[in-house]
Amino acid sequence: SAVGTAQIGVTGLAVMGRNLARNFARNGFTVAVHNRTYARTQSLVAEHGADGTFVPSESMADFVASLERPRKVVVMVQAGAPTDAVIDELVPLLEEGDIVVDAGNAHFPDTVRREAALRAKGLHFVGTGVSGGEEGALNGPSIMPGGTAESYASLGPILEKISAKVDGVPCCTHVGPDGAGHFVKMVHNGIEYADMQLIAEAYDLLRSGLGASAPEIGEVFAAWNTGDLESFLIEVTAEVLAHTDAATGRPFVDVVADAAEQKGTGRWTVQNALDLGVPITGIAEATFARALSGSAPQRAAARGVLPADTLAWNVPDAGAFIEDVRLALYASKVVAYSQGFDQIAAASEQFGWDIDRGAMARIWRGGCIIRAKFLDRITQAYERDAHLPLLLADPYFTAAVANGVAAWRRVVSAAAAHGVPTPAFSSSLAYYDGVRAERLPANLIQAQRDFFGAHTYRRTDREGTFHTDWSGDR
Ligand code: NAP
Repeated sequence: SAVGTAQIGVTGLAVMGRNLARNFARNGFTVAVHNRTYARTQSLVAEHGADGTFVPSESMADFVASLERPRKVVVMVQAGAPTDAVIDELVPLLEEGDIVVDAGNAHFPDTVRREAALRAKGLHFVGTGVSGGEEGALNGPSIMPGGTAESYASLGPILEKISAKVDGVPCCTHVGPDGAGHFVKMVHNGIEYADMQLIAEAYDLLRSGLGASAPEIGEVFAAWNTGDLESFLIEVTAEVLAHTDAATGRPFVDVVADAAEQKGTGRWTVQNALDLGVPITGIAEATFARALSGSAPQRAAARGVLPADTLAWNVPDAGAFIEDVRLALYASKVVAYSQGFDQIAAASEQFGWDIDRGAMARIWRGGCIIRAKFLDRITQAYERDAHLPLLLADPYFTAAVANGVAAWRRVVSAAAAHGVPTPAFSSSLAYYDGVRAERLPANLIQAQRDFFGAHTYRRTDREGTFHTDWSGDR
């Protein structure tokens, strides 16, 4: 079949695909562009033709024919059935060795399935996480490609070129086979949920404890953004809190309804963690906190009815309280990331992906929503020990948490005493105390299980598996 000159193709030209195509063009690549509805393709070329060289096609066949071989086609359409529909249309037009890149937010089991189906046809399928929203897609996202090492050899340099750079290092690397890229993107989004929830809890504590206004709290976040917490999400928080609603003149956040929405990546992350048996309490509580905020009938039934019986706030030293909240936020954040990296390790083991966790922290330093200074520390921790069993146990993070643990306990105690819900702060501290415990009460759980189900138990003083005859105790 026909062979063209375009080095890369993008099909699906809504916000994300359009910006990715422009990014490729601005980086000097000749970009074949296609969209189901041709008007989108035409408007891209009409409005942004100056970005570089676009080769527009109305039909999928012409689009495929406009690409040089091996063809590299980026699919950027709605996840789910639309992605399957586009792949089904593409595949008969492709030839052995061509590469299909799914850059949408696919659920990783779908990517595993699609990769196997295309491999059987002699094609490469690269499920790729892309983070950074519209802005990132245009100016440099964080890119997490899965698929074969062979496909990365020809595709990788192109993706690295359009990715974000930090200290000249691209925020793109080969993550691992088949579903590994989309898996890591999923966990990235889960961590994003935890980060956002922790920030929201810190805001709630400052609002409740100090009676501070949104702009005043915004100033606290702006100051925090100059230290260990420096990150895109803290910066965004400071800006959002400082923003005034044009219609009412009130702080913007005060007129925003308090029911959070979600598209599903947090839920996928938690579902997978349950399958793998990895405690990601920070991400799970963040996901449930969004669900609780949206539980309108339950909240209506409880509001003003369930007794509070709280203490009245008395914060004699606002500065000390703010510093306590900052330390609690940082410690809880370290726990959430530690848990997320545990989940990546467990999945990597389960699916044979061999994911380099330090490299994941490295490609999240720029372009994506969780980009932060602190990710360098994670990369360094895995450079010190690639098989680190627990991020929290790396000397830097142990010291960072040790510095804040007393403040963390004060903040969680105060939140409980004053009725401020802090599920992510509290569960992170509970995880911390659980994981470091000399002895957990799981001994009692095992005894109970043996009592009612003859599930057996192991002993502290002898090797082997035991069962007690409990009939005499009844
Ligand atoms: P979108 O609204 O998710 O999808 C719209 C695009 O899909 C349009 O190009 C549309 O074509 C096409 N499409 C839908 N059904 C189709 C079908 N059956 N056959 C062919 N094409 C079909 O677009 P988006 O917001 O740009 O996102 C694209 C992908 O990136 C999604 O998977 C999304 O989850 C992911 N993503 C989005 C963001 C973000 O910030 N928005 C960030 C990261 C990843 P028509 O023009 O013909 O309708």
